[in-house]
Amino acid sequence: MRSIITTSDVDVTYNKGQTNEFKALKGVTCEIASREYIIFFGPSGCGKSTLLYSIFGVLEPSAGEVMVKGDSIYKYEPMELVMYQRKTMGIMYQSFNLIPSLTVLDNVQLPLIFAGFPPVTRERRAMELLDRFGIAHVAHKRPALLSGGQQQRVSVARSLVNDPEILIADEPVGNLDFVSAEAVMNTLEEINQNDKKTVLLVTHDAKYLPYAHRVFYLDYGKIDRIVPNPEKRQIIKVRPGETIVTEIEQLARIYPYDTPEQLRVKSLINFLTQSLSFDQIVRLEKMTQHVIEGVLSEDQFRTLLTTDYEEGGCGIKPKQAEEMTHKMFQVLEQSQDVVRFRRVHRDQTTIDLARFELIKHIHTHMVGEYKVEPDSRELEQLTKMVTNRVYGYITREEFHRQLRLPFEEGGGGFDIYLAADLSRYLEKLIAQGVSHFVQHQESKPESTNLHAKQAEKFEEIDKGLFGRLTHILAKKKQNA
Ligand code: ADP
Repeated sequence: MRSIITTSDVDVTYNKGQTNEFKALKGVTCEIASREYIIFFGPSGCGKSTLLYSIFGVLEPSAGEVMVKGDSIYKYEPMELVMYQRKTMGIMYQSFNLIPSLTVLDNVQLPLIFAGFPPVTRERRAMELLDRFGIAHVAHKRPALLSGGQQQRVSVARSLVNDPEILIADEPVGNLDFVSAEAVMNTLEEINQNDKKTVLLVTHDAKYLPYAHRVFYLDYGKIDRIVPNPEKRQIIKVRPGETIVTEIEQLARIYPYDTPEQLRVKSLINFLTQSLSFDQIVRLEKMTQHVIEGVLSEDQFRTLLTTDYEEGGCGIKPKQAEEMTHKMFQVLEQSQDVVRFRRVHRDQTTIDLARFELIKHIHTHMVGEYKVEPDSRELEQLTKMVTNRVYGYITREEFHRQLRLPFEEGGGGFDIYLAADLSRYLEKLIAQGVSHFVQHQESKPESTNLHAKQAEKFEEIDKGLFGRLTHILAKKKQNA
């Protein structure tokens, strides 16, 4: 491969020789080809920005070498290094770094002023870029009057005005709302594909990984692994099999910070415990999210589960879909008992009613699933334990232990399987109920109803697949 950037055994140590010395990069070796889109990815503090700024030429490694276009950049004379930063590199920051007292147009042409271009050329080039990114109409405004998304587009224009070969971006969409972020990410992709610039981008957000040709996963100052994106045509030759879409790659999207070993474990556990593929799981997650947001009804959810995968559904067999739908809505509905139960904590007149509802549902679950019919004394004991767990007076382990304890000793006297199932079931109700309670109680106490935010959510629901599908489903139903 013809690499444009090579780092060899790069170490970066902050505060060298002092008590707070910190090694932020440890022996980083990598090669990046011209026109590649690379994402440096990893948890906060793992060294992504440090690597980016070392390549930018402003952070000299304490050991190792950074080569760009065949030159060892830290061997440049100071003025040559400045020229390298101005001509070869373009940069975008999370905080845009626009100069507030200058107009948008002046901000964009600023690098050309430093480079000594005449005013007419500067202005023409800057206006072309503003026009291209749809912000020509704000050329004479000050940056503060622009939205975040517009400001970041100004900074894209500024980073390109020198026509650099390499564009680097440090969390460029970290401060933007979802829609503006996507617009900027799409622009960067276009700059990579159409303008044929090499793009290096730092992010800790996994949803942007699909934009890159390759993702460099960093951890504790090292490149942990390099993963080619199987959905992008690669610039560099990859070894046979390296881009095959394996389950591990798909899992890495869901659990980006897990090691390859942990991902292999997850893959096997999934095989042992579930009949669904990861594609189905990912889609199921999205649908479940919509259910929790109150956007998908029970009927719509059931229908989508059984709709063909190719048509945008989940491709799950009807019997299994029925069972899943039933369980999901049962848990969500009964988790409302937990919400009410906790809410009326201090109001003794209604507490028994709320508790009664919850116990009644757990009782029904026991009879339905296990054909176990507890007597009234057993129910009383169970009520005590459930109350303590729902209020958080005992841990889930303690609750489980009490369920198994013989009845005479104050426990539930349940066998190992029933105890495990009951505690799992109650934890699901608590997980849904308590987080729902916490989310809503302070802002809007009256909106604990699952569907209360529905109208609002409809406004912002993605206009993509699910928006269209639910529309089609509604139409089908109307026609039927
Ligand atoms: P990331 O971009 O992955 O969040 P950084 O490259 O910014 O991480 O930082 C890597 C580590 O180096 C962090 O632990 C950070 O606290 C430390 N660090 C960064 N800059 C400095 C600095 N100027 N002085 C001391 N430590 C720093």
